[in-house]
Amino acid sequence: MQDKTLVCKDCGREFIFTVREQEFFKEKQFDNDPVRCSDCRRAKKQAQRGNGGGYNGPRKHN
Ligand SMILES: [Zn+2]
Repeated sequence: MQDKTLVCKDCGREFIFTVREQEFFKEKQFDNDPVRCSDCRRAKKQAQRGNGGGYNGPRKHN
């Protein structure tokens, strides 16, 4: 395996899908490559947290 360069569907920037992340995705049996860069993923997560819509992921303590 090697790092892949993907284009973020939200901001259109290229980002690296690292071998490490690919292994993580495989382990979780995600079929699809990520479509967003880590910045947009984080932004999306934060947006979801605000509107209380069924997201029950673990919450990080600061
Ligand atoms: Zn992005």
